[in-house]
Parts: sequence; C-alpha cells; structure tokens
Amino acid sequence: MPYQYTVADRFCRYVQIDTQSDPLSDSYPTTEKQKNLGKLLVAELLAMGIADAHLDEWGYVYATLPANSHKNVPVICFCSHMDTSPDCSGMGVKPLIHLNYDGSDLVLPDDPTQIIRFAEHPALAQQIGNDIITASGTTLLGADNKAGVAEIMDAIAYLLAHPDLRHGTVKILFTPDEEVGKGTANVDLQKLGAQFAYTIDGETLGTIEDETFSADAMRVVIQGVSIHPGFAKGKMENAIKIAADIVAQLPKNSLSPETTEGREGFVHPTRIAGTLESAEIDFIVRDFTESGLAQHETKIRQIVQNAIAHFST
Ligand SMILES: [Zn+2]
Repeated sequence: MPYQYTVADRFCRYVQIDTQSDPLSDSYPTTEKQKNLGKLLVAELLAMGIADAHLDEWGYVYATLPANSHKNVPVICFCSHMDTSPDCSGMGVKPLIHLNYDGSDLVLPDDPTQIIRFAEHPALAQQIGNDIITASGTTLLGADNKAGVAEIMDAIAYLLAHPDLRHGTVKILFTPDEEVGKGTANVDLQKLGAQFAYTIDGETLGTIEDETFSADAMRVVIQGVSIHPGFAKGKMENAIKIAADIVAQLPKNSLSPETTEGREGFVHPTRIAGTLESAEIDFIVRDFTESGLAQHETKIRQIVQNAIAHFST
C-alpha cells in the first residue's frame, strides 16, 4: 500500500473543529462539541481498518492497533487530549502553512499586530527550512494538543502501511477536558488495558518527560463587614485590604513560578477579585511530593491566619 505523508493535512483538518473545554461546566465532557472531533477520529480509524475504534458517552476515543509480532511485549498506549484551552477562542480557526521558513518574523494576517518575532522565540532558529503552521491572528491554533492527535493518527496509518515494522499491541486513547483538569476523570484504565502509556504533548523534538508535579488549587474567600463610611470606626472590615495583605505576605524570593525551577514547588495566585464586602483569591499549588503540597497549603493557611490577626480589633 503506498503511504502518503499526511500529518500536516490531518492537523489542519482537526484544528478547524472547535473543541474548547469549559472550566465552569459540570457536564462531562464539559462541552458537547468536543465529541465532534472524537467522531471524526473514530471514522478515520475505522476507515484505516481499526475495527474497535469508538467514542464513549464521556467523550473518550478508544482504539486498538493489533500486534503483528509474536514476541511477548507489553501493551503500550499513545494518548493525547482533543480539547483546547478556554483562554482563547477556538472557533473559526484558519491554519496557515508558512513554507520553507527563512528566519523572518511571522505576521498573522487577520490581526497584523500579532507578530511571532524571531528574536523572541529561540525555538524558531531550529525551524529554518521547515514548514511552520500558525493560526491567522484572531484565534489560538490548538496545536496543544491537536499536534499530538495528528501525530498518533499518522503513526497508526504508517504502522498499518508498513507491516514489516513489528510491534506489540498499541492502544490509542484520545481524551476530552485536559485543559480544565478533568482529562482522566472518567477514563476506564481496565478497558484500556495498557501497561505503559505515552502522552504525546508539549516540548520539542527529542524530549521525554518521565515525571510530573502534583497539583492542587486553593480558593481563599474573605467576608468583610460593610458599614457606611460615616459610621465605620471600629466596625468596618474591608475585604479588599485583607486580600491585599494576604498577597503582600507571599514570599518575594521563593515559592513562586518566577523564582523557582526544576523540581521546586510553588504557590501561585492566579486571580483576585473583590469588593469591601467580600473578596476571593485563587491559588494553584505545585510540588513533586504530596508532603510538599501539604506544606505549601499550610503556608497559605498561616498567611491567612496572620491577615486575620492583623485586622482583628
Ligand atoms: Zn496539552
């Protein structure tokens, strides 16, 4: 069977399907539209001859490339997520292929103020002479992680077209809702039946990551006491000032993304909102050990206790 190199075609097809996930949704998947890509992937896998490819009610795609080797090797899985980030629109994505990249700045035509500058992106220096795919300027591209989806689909097509390449059973798993922290919420590992899985996502060519951090989120909710400013003495408790005091107490030279690297953990405020009456601060907490996570969370609780002490009369 002649093999055509189609990974870029696949990628450009997949990115045009809006699969943005929604952190505020309680349904699963968090957006029904994620299944539109799932259905297309199942149809393409079935057309390739992967007979058990299917989409389940939660929006997961499962499929199996049967072994063509008699060696007893572990079952592996290639996995990637189909959803794209809620931070930027995934509707009406127009992928553009910049052929034979020459090292110039890439100006995105639908919003010419969006410029991918050679000087600001050291990775571009490695891409001279290659083709680069970008969005058109008004949406995200969705390369995270439709690049992974396209790579897996093309790898399966390649292995089917080259039976001389011997392999064990390869399971395929495409998940919804990774960007909103629910990518594995309803995955059936028993049914998947793989001993080892490789997530094809992120980083540059030739990189393998063999561990990840543990992640928690915390929300601090402050109830103030609102009184007319003319009668406030000794009574008003201003939630804005208490929130500001909590943020001001965070360490300046440690425990933050901007002051740590490698396997160092951190606490990181990602959102603050408030009025005199009530305020909220959202944190993400990261560490490579569960005990480290617990320590950081204790630290936030101590800071909150200090703030309460500062403001109690
Ligand atoms: Zn990703």
